[in-house]
Amino acid sequence: MGSSKKTPQRGTQRVPRDPTRWSDAGRRSYSASYGDYEDVPLICPRCGVSFTFLASMQKHWFEELKLHPSVRPTVCRACAKLARTERALEQALHAALRSARATPCSIDALVALVRARVLQFEGSVRSHTTPAHTYGNRPAWRQLSWRSGDKNLRAALAECARIRELAPANHEVAAWEERAARGLASLTPDSAS
Ligand SMILES: [Zn+2]
Repeated sequence: MGSSKKTPQRGTQRVPRDPTRWSDAGRRSYSASYGDYEDVPLICPRCGVSFTFLASMQKHWFEELKLHPSVRPTVCRACAKLARTERALEQALHAALRSARATPCSIDALVALVRARVLQFEGSVRSHTTPAHTYGNRPAWRQLSWRSGDKNLRAALAECARIRELAPANHEVAAWEERAARGLASLTPDSAS
């Protein structure tokens, strides 16, 4: 029995609740709190997949992490993971931008910036084309992200040209330039016609 840990059935899991372990704010707003934690069925607003806020997870969130008991996961696990990756790549891009701005004569910083731009774009495409997360019902997300991708890749190509001008011997840039060009071509709306 203990081995079937994965995919617990929705609505069947109950975990004892201990409000004395909640945060102060949680205890104040939920003075009458009795009963157990129960699985909460939710629909992910991002991909439309149904998922479960497990009773055991509620216990962890509210009693260990001290999150407010009204808090619910905003998206499913897969979407949360994709979002984390996207965020990390965006942060890396911002860091590379800052560094390139701080050291405008550094070829290394410029190459790092091109690299960060390409990786950020590729990560964003990945997260928007993962089979279960095609956002068929949310085309606006894709458009928004791809429009910024377009700007990003054009900047990357301009930076590649600059690197080649300043440091013709730099070979690292060629691969990134190719990936940026490929990404840009994939964005062109009528590339197939
Ligand atoms: Zn989702």
